[in-house]
Amino acid sequence: MKEYREIVVLGAAESGTGAAVLAHKKGYKVFVSDSGTIKTTYKNVLTHFDIDFEEEGHDLQRIITAGEVIKSPGIPDEAPVIKALREQKRPVISEIEFAARFTSAKTICITGSNGKTTTTLLLGHILKTAGIRVGIAGNMGKSFAWQVADDDKDVYVLELSSFQLDNMYRFKADIAVLLNITPDHLDRYNYKFENYINSKLRILQNQSKNETVIFNADDPVIVSELGKRKPEIKLFPFSLHPMDVENGAFMKRNELIIKKHNKKTFDMTLEQLALQGKHNVYNSMAAGVAAKLMEIRNETIKQCLSDFQNIAHRLEYVGSVHGISFINDSKATNINSTWYALESILKPVVWIAGGIDKGNDYKLIKSLVREKVKAIVCLGIDNQKLHDEFGDDVELIVDADSAVAAVNAAYQIARKGDTVLMSPACASFDLFENYEDRGNQFKQAVRNL
Ligand code: ADP
Repeated sequence: MKEYREIVVLGAAESGTGAAVLAHKKGYKVFVSDSGTIKTTYKNVLTHFDIDFEEEGHDLQRIITAGEVIKSPGIPDEAPVIKALREQKRPVISEIEFAARFTSAKTICITGSNGKTTTTLLLGHILKTAGIRVGIAGNMGKSFAWQVADDDKDVYVLELSSFQLDNMYRFKADIAVLLNITPDHLDRYNYKFENYINSKLRILQNQSKNETVIFNADDPVIVSELGKRKPEIKLFPFSLHPMDVENGAFMKRNELIIKKHNKKTFDMTLEQLALQGKHNVYNSMAAGVAAKLMEIRNETIKQCLSDFQNIAHRLEYVGSVHGISFINDSKATNINSTWYALESILKPVVWIAGGIDKGNDYKLIKSLVREKVKAIVCLGIDNQKLHDEFGDDVELIVDADSAVAAVNAAYQIARKGDTVLMSPACASFDLFENYEDRGNQFKQAVRNL
């Protein structure tokens, strides 16, 4: 056992348990504390490794004397235990920060308000196909710490949320990918967009001339922040418009082009991309540039960008009933992702929206709604804001309190040739367990029509 003071891990789900296992394997004394009940699978792991834990409450005295505290990303800064730690000036870090100390693998870190999971999986698919020992982690799957503990890899593609970035200090990404920054999670950032922006930009911290950032040059927030900060890193912009750059990716006519050292090194037509829609061209560009930086062969990149299987709940086509198409975009939990969903649909839309609003500014999609949406079905417990915002913009707004009720209502309203789109722009926790549950219930209801 090392001489250090105890390491405390707050939260015992995927990232917390992974961090506890890693700390234990590295010889630290570990204590895990969760304010809720710990799932049996995680409890079994802690017991197996003989790691001390508590649930349904925090032993504050023990926690504030810890050498270091690893916080799960789901715990908000306002939680009393975090406030107490801050008052005592105790170091609180994320599982990613902790795990990175114990691996020498290359890290490619992907952040943004939307598209993180898609881009992370897409890049993971390319690297895996190329035969690289790659771990995909971060906000999904088996946690980074757990992978480092169990079977360390040569390269990690990490999806990083702003909450993970908030507690990262010394970590340095070899390649950072900034997909977009639009308002989200403002409820956890004092309703200040700038706080959220600063959190996202932490992905660049500690990077210098040997590291790279791949960024969306069409995103005004990202461009303005990079302009202000002028980081001394290699810059690889990507854009949907032709660009005269030495390094980066852009679209010219119908082609996705990647340039490196002022030379065109990769091109592919948009029709060949597996993931369709403008937002996915961005995601494909970001993954393609990262793959080129990893020296992956063009053939492999092309093959993977065209055979990637889209993941569920992201603009997922469910089926057509009597000429009415149904699309499940349950993962759209903020305005920007819903903007891309509405933008991509060319037929009249019956839009299923609502849930828990994280501080949405609906003005950003008002003109699209006026142009495309004939009716709104609100799927949430409190739908007042949607009624207030869109009451004058569409012919009809109705309320539903379950996926079945929403699908039935939308089916009644829609006519042949219309599209029913569930792209809620809100979190799902008022009526569902999570966005997957919401998407699955929606799909089941459509199949039952
Ligand atoms: P994240 O992991 O960042 O939440 P996902 O890949 O799970 O992102 O996609 C979330 C939602 O955003 C889906 O509705 C998807 O269709 C949409 N989306 C995906 N990529 C982008 C993008 N680059 N810009 C805007 N919306 C996107």
